[in-house]
Amino acid sequence: MKINVDLNRCTGHGFCEGLAEDIFEVGQDGVAHLLDETPGEDRRDVVEEAVAMCPTKALSLHEEG
Ligand code: SF4
Repeated sequence: MKINVDLNRCTGHGFCEGLAEDIFEVGQDGVAHLLDETPGEDRRDVVEEAVAMCPTKALSLHEEG
């Protein structure tokens, strides 16, 4: 799976970072950056939760290959 952040939508409140700070990081620029764009399947639950919780729907999850 591959995560995408729509930087035009992200408002940097950091719900995603709060759920998984090894995957998401809100930078000095006030938007979320991916520390791990393609996390392992063992992180699917938390990534899906972040996608669902993001208040601006900035996060999306894509399946690879
Ligand atoms: S939860 Fe959504 S809006 Fe908030 S920092 Fe993460 S990607 Fe951005």
